[in-house]
Amino acid sequence: MTKGLRAMKPMYDVIVLGAGAAGMMCAAQAGQKGCSVLVLDHARSPGEKIRISGGGRCNFTNLHASPANYISGNRHFAKSALARYSAKDFVALVDSYRIPWHEKTLGQLFCDDSAKEIVRMLLEEMRKGQVELQLQQTISAVDKTIDGFRVRLEHTDVEARALVVATGGKSIPKMGATGFAYKLAEQFGIAVTETRPALVPLTLDPMQLEKLSSLSGVAVDARASCGKTDFKEALLFTHRGLSGPAILQISSYWREGETIGLHLRPDLNILQRLKDARQANGKQAIQTVLGDILPKRLAQYLSDENGFSGTMADQSDRKLQAVCDSLQNWQICPAGSEGYRTAEVTLGGVDTNELDQRSMQSKKVPGLYFIGEAVDVTGWLGGYNFQWAWSSGYVCAETLRNITPTA
Ligand SMILES: Cc1cc2nc3c(=O)[nH]c(=O)nc-3n(C[C@H](O)[C@H](O)[C@H](O)COP(=O)(O)OP(=O)(O)OC[C@H]3O[C@@H](n4cnc5c(N)ncnc54)[C@H](O)[C@@H]3O)c2cc1C
Repeated sequence: MTKGLRAMKPMYDVIVLGAGAAGMMCAAQAGQKGCSVLVLDHARSPGEKIRISGGGRCNFTNLHASPANYISGNRHFAKSALARYSAKDFVALVDSYRIPWHEKTLGQLFCDDSAKEIVRMLLEEMRKGQVELQLQQTISAVDKTIDGFRVRLEHTDVEARALVVATGGKSIPKMGATGFAYKLAEQFGIAVTETRPALVPLTLDPMQLEKLSSLSGVAVDARASCGKTDFKEALLFTHRGLSGPAILQISSYWREGETIGLHLRPDLNILQRLKDARQANGKQAIQTVLGDILPKRLAQYLSDENGFSGTMADQSDRKLQAVCDSLQNWQICPAGSEGYRTAEVTLGGVDTNELDQRSMQSKKVPGLYFIGEAVDVTGWLGGYNFQWAWSSGYVCAETLRNITPTA
């Protein structure tokens, strides 16, 4: 179809690209503040990642969310948005819809029943703001016009004074994730930092996998460290390598070729426990004692690997120290990660130097905004990423309210 024949729709105040967490929050708030808002998404349903998040219960925020829980080229960037729309603000919204929730651990808040309640809440918020939502729309191009932006769809063009890019990152392409935001940023000369999968299981090479094959499915509390960063959570051995919250967390800091340190049972004084066991019953086999400290298969693996044998009475202090070291300082060099196929988020994104941290507006292109995961702000595991989506979406909408309303 030639340009002359394309149907033109009326001009909106705001077009939001992406009906995910950030896009829906921003659209609802902007609509409720008086803007005419159109949301476009190529997916069949809005908020798909919300729906599947947190095992279907959506870890929708973290009570302790602060800039320290985010990785970004500018560690202060998230400060303003997180302060102006905090976890408490989102909890108040959830409470106003009487959605029951609970704190699981470490300030992580989950729905009692279903993540779908959060999607329904955001849709209702959008309805209150008279937001128009168009799904299954293919965005073929975005152009700058004199007074705003034109978005080219398959059968029509739509225009707005402001354009908010909320198309997320590249994680889980099967669910419709694309690098759209990065391409659009580059089109407008806006820098994008290196992107890579984060909060992702790590893989081992075939030789390591063969060695650890007996451990697939074993979970244990551990402190996983990489460089100066460490996380104390559960570790899970899988048929591909390492997973579990401790590994997902550290994966955001790990780079190819680096080693990960594992400290098993970090809350336990292992050396003392071994000495006590020796004192209490010298006839016990060391494998049996290790089997009380660790899952049995892991105790067996470490015993075989390090040649721990004999009774407790056979173990000198030096030997017990060696056993303790093998549990507290296990070094593993992952081969890679499972990639965007399973990564919960994308590290990196639209360079924070390019955006005003109070509004998320591009410094180079007035009227163009980037929010949510598309931006180089990546949260830890535990509800921090959704909080960033809510906070960045909210502060963006606060600025959008100043756009001259359409007649
Ligand atoms: C399995 C899984 C579980 C997770 N669990 C949690 C959790 O419990 N707590 C937490 O805080 N975080 C969690 N996350 C991370 C969280 O889902 C994201 O950080 C968050 O969804 C980002 O919000 P967003 O709006 O920026 O992007 P998204 O939610 O990804 O939304 C982007 C939207 O843009 C649309 N889109 C993309 N490209 C295009 C295009 N080219 N054209 C049109 N539309 C497009 C997509 O269809 C999508 O609707 C999880 C992620 C995954 C994958």
